[in-house]
Amino acid sequence: MCLSAAAYSITITPMTCQAKTENSQATEDLAARLGQRLRGGEVIELVSDLGGGKTTFTRGLAKGFGSDDHVASPTFTVSKVYKAGKKEFHHFDFYRLAEPGIMAHELQDLVGDPEIVVVVEWGEAVQHVLPADRLAVRLERSGEDSREITFDAPENLAYLLEGLC
Ligand code: ADP
Ligand code: MG
Repeated sequence: MCLSAAAYSITITPMTCQAKTENSQATEDLAARLGQRLRGGEVIELVSDLGGGKTTFTRGLAKGFGSDDHVASPTFTVSKVYKAGKKEFHHFDFYRLAEPGIMAHELQDLVGDPEIVVVVEWGEAVQHVLPADRLAVRLERSGEDSREITFDAPENLAYLLEGLC
């Protein structure tokens, strides 16, 4: 965003960084380093094509956040909860769900809870309940096993990205 007035011009640049991984383990490891910085209360939206690595990334995130639970695609259940000590990690996947219905309300109730981290795959249908202040992670294929990963964070989530990439 760029604000300009006669006397001054300020450019507000949200935090952004990019990394490239060469295999799924590297994606998981990068996500685990990010997961270690999570405090609770954050919302993370993951964006990629099918097979881009969103669930793989989530596996690392949950591990870094302190969960030993098995992370798998919640495509058929829409959401899963992983325990991390006293905190919880909620993993949503709205793949092909045009009308999220009650799941949007469930998601809305979790957002902002300081004990809960929310991760969303295929969040298009729930954009209206996702907070503007969320971390966006985009994964793009740059080869069979390589991914370009781009992170965008608002100012108040800058601590998630410092020194990450
Ligand atoms: P999504 O949830 O976006 O559909 P998944 O994480 O379920 O994607 O699947 C990603 C697939 O791509 C997995 O089979 C994973 O092993 C493979 N893969 C290969 N290279 C990478 C990489 N660099 N990062 C993440 N996944 C990778
Ligand atoms: Mg997935």
